[in-house]
Amino acid sequence: MSTQVNSDFLNAFINAEASTGGVAAVGVVSICELRGSTLSARFAADYLSPASPRYLRETFSLRSDPGKLFPWARSIFILAIPFTALPSVSGSIEAKDSSGAPSFPLLFPDGGKVCRKSQRENNSRNTRFVGRIAAYAARIDYHVFAKSILAELAEDLKSALGRDFRAVPAVDTQPLPERSLAVLAGLGTIGRNQALLVPGYGSGCFLCELVTDVIVETGGAQIPNDDGEAVRGMEKGGETDWCQGCGACVSNCPTGALSCDSRGGFAMERCRSHLTIERREPLSDSESELLGDWIFGCGECLNVCRDTRLPPPAGIDLRWLLEVSAGEVSRSIKGTAMEYAGVTQLRRNALIVLGNDSSKDALELVARFSRRTSSELLRETAARVLYRRP
Ligand code: SF4
Ligand code: SF4
Repeated sequence: MSTQVNSDFLNAFINAEASTGGVAAVGVVSICELRGSTLSARFAADYLSPASPRYLRETFSLRSDPGKLFPWARSIFILAIPFTALPSVSGSIEAKDSSGAPSFPLLFPDGGKVCRKSQRENNSRNTRFVGRIAAYAARIDYHVFAKSILAELAEDLKSALGRDFRAVPAVDTQPLPERSLAVLAGLGTIGRNQALLVPGYGSGCFLCELVTDVIVETGGAQIPNDDGEAVRGMEKGGETDWCQGCGACVSNCPTGALSCDSRGGFAMERCRSHLTIERREPLSDSESELLGDWIFGCGECLNVCRDTRLPPPAGIDLRWLLEVSAGEVSRSIKGTAMEYAGVTQLRRNALIVLGNDSSKDALELVARFSRRTSSELLRETAARVLYRRP
């Protein structure tokens, strides 16, 4: 039998959860509220675009109505968690720029020996090439971290209700329209950079959900105020002016994936995050150029958004990435979001970044790697890199 909770109980519970450390905002929507209003037209267009990954196109119908996938569900709790709450992974050292000042953390370069050696010895086999990765990828995988927070939320709710209930956690693992749900739950609004903007945290949060069979009376979502106390959230389902349309995200996007139209136009096929993580095929020459020196993610449109605090991007030594065994790379990225991309995808991107560098040393590294690899994708990518030179 489903458990039913009224809005006073729910508000008190959400107040308590929202004011615990590590969570920026919590809200809940009932499944009844969702029908017919879950997926904003804006995301529907993105999901159905031919440029969208196949899994998004194939799950469109489920994403439009979570009740189809979870016929037993009665409510969905949704949490916004700041990226800054993610613990760091071990094995990072500080990279230095040419003046010796720290620039960004460099990960997994053989305990730093490669970097120190490359500064001492000025021969081509030791030139350092760095591929950048999004800040969150240098931390504990947000999927793992969010599942622990959702487990705590479920335990807290069980204690508060005094009875068990059915619950399924979701962190990118279920086809839920999470940004639309977050808006409906009053957690924030969607910015021109396509991200959820949470008051006080800007674009610096990721989302996760707990699908439950708890019947809720919802009366508005809760967002912590500056003192960390939960206060009445935005009008449910309403678009607000919290994104001020300043356009900083659009002008800071290096690939032109965002546009200035007031609804926030997005060309997924030009987005580095999409190209480095989701696109598994060989990239064309024009797509390869869009990567610049990034091998995983991007997020340059998030950093510039108001109130957003993100850790700096990190870097990976590309020589290390291509020259150590696949097993060593695999062990090093275990427990980070880069595990989702996998070793082959990271190496494909590394080859492209070296191609964008286009120096003699970079191309020699690509050529050496291509003679060794047994991966068809990597051989093809290396060939494109080597033969696209004028
Ligand atoms: S940078 Fe400006 S326009 Fe872009 S999402 Fe943030 S507030 Fe909106
Ligand atoms: S993630 Fe990077 S490429 Fe994609 S829209 Fe944002 S700034 Fe542009």
